[in-house]
Amino acid sequence: MTLLQSFDITIIGAGLVGQVLAIGLDRLGYQVALIESKNLKPLEPNEDLRAIALSYGSVECLKSLSLWACLSSFATPIHRVHVSEQGGFSQCRIKKEDLKLNYLGQVLEITNLLNNFLQELLLNTRVKIFASNKTKNFDFESKIFTLENGEFFKTSWVISAEGALSETAQRLEIKTQQKFFNQVAIVGNILLRESHENLAYERFTPAGPLALLPVSQNKATFIWAVTPEQAQELLAQSDSEFLKNLQKAFGYRAGKFEKLFKRQSHVLTQSQASENFKNGILLMGNAAHSLHPIAGQGFNLSLRDIQEFLKQVKNVGLKGPMAFDQYLKNRAQDQKEIAKFSESLVHLFTRPGCFPKLFRGLGLHVLERQAGLKKYLAERLAGIL
Ligand SMILES: Cc1cc2nc3c(=O)[nH]c(=O)nc-3n(C[C@H](O)[C@H](O)[C@H](O)COP(=O)(O)OP(=O)(O)OC[C@H]3O[C@@H](n4cnc5c(N)ncnc54)[C@H](O)[C@@H]3O)c2cc1C
Repeated sequence: MTLLQSFDITIIGAGLVGQVLAIGLDRLGYQVALIESKNLKPLEPNEDLRAIALSYGSVECLKSLSLWACLSSFATPIHRVHVSEQGGFSQCRIKKEDLKLNYLGQVLEITNLLNNFLQELLLNTRVKIFASNKTKNFDFESKIFTLENGEFFKTSWVISAEGALSETAQRLEIKTQQKFFNQVAIVGNILLRESHENLAYERFTPAGPLALLPVSQNKATFIWAVTPEQAQELLAQSDSEFLKNLQKAFGYRAGKFEKLFKRQSHVLTQSQASENFKNGILLMGNAAHSLHPIAGQGFNLSLRDIQEFLKQVKNVGLKGPMAFDQYLKNRAQDQKEIAKFSESLVHLFTRPGCFPKLFRGLGLHVLERQAGLKKYLAERLAGIL
């Protein structure tokens, strides 16, 4: 008779959140199964062009999981952030010195994050990976988890980290409130004539926000949110035509844009699950809340979630639902506030007309001069408050 495999916890989805969670739980000594629908292999350099701005607090979280050493050589620190509006009269600048930190955040290409997490999972953990596979069923009473390929095992708990529109959440009949912004993000890498000097920019243009993040000495990643119609037009343009339009929208604050490497698009939505824990299954990451990337907070918020969840598991274990209940209670406010903040920024900076523009200009002007308010906002975004 063969013994039924048994795990303390099963994570569905091996994106950024699923992988970090699996490593964190393994580090605590739990037996973890990780299910991924795709084939789990290292990504090619240009497969996903996103760069992720990790806040200071997120870097601390990755350090606490011994995950920073393998990433630090790929990271570019942010020393200053510059916020402005195209055609506007005001700007707001945040410096690392304002917060007495060595850096405000670190930028990493998402391929480097995912490839290093995967390597760590494969080489330094006992996490059992079921790739190119999906869930068929999880029976909460018997704790039997069945995969689509017919394999089955026992697991006490399940976490869905399947990204926005999680199939598991749908199966559980958890309603998800989705907001469409009529925006598409064009993401890509450019070569700058001058060094970026570790400056990150957020520029609000009439089409939508445009962020420029430093990724290596003279390279930057842009994230430009535009309407679907504009995206279609911009994506059809030649590289030189596109680069000219990008430069026009951004201006020359970061010097001349010399070359465009590649571009991709992502449809932007924001979603929020109506409940995050049902029948022994917890939703985390984008499955629980996905944000507009305007403030670069999605993964940062999820890392704070992961940190709190691991803390509760360490404190009370996984025998009963206490770690889950306490986690949900402690994280609700931050999740709500960051979602509201990201959404408000989108609405505030995409409203057309002279009056909203004047209001935005005044807002940035006040923020620049109100040291206390600016520090509060900077600390929130750096993930240290
Ligand atoms: C343009 C852009 C820029 C961004 N910039 C930033 C930034 O600067 N800073 C920041 O903090 N955040 C940023 N984000 C947000 C960040 O990318 C997300 O928060 C993060 O990727 C969410 O990770 P996740 O693991 O929850 O979901 P996902 O990345 O969607 O991963 C889900 C995984 O689950 C798998 N899966 C799905 N369904 C199943 C299933 N049924 N069974 C098994 N596996 C399944 C998928 O294949 C995938 O591997 C940005 C997002 C965008 C779009």
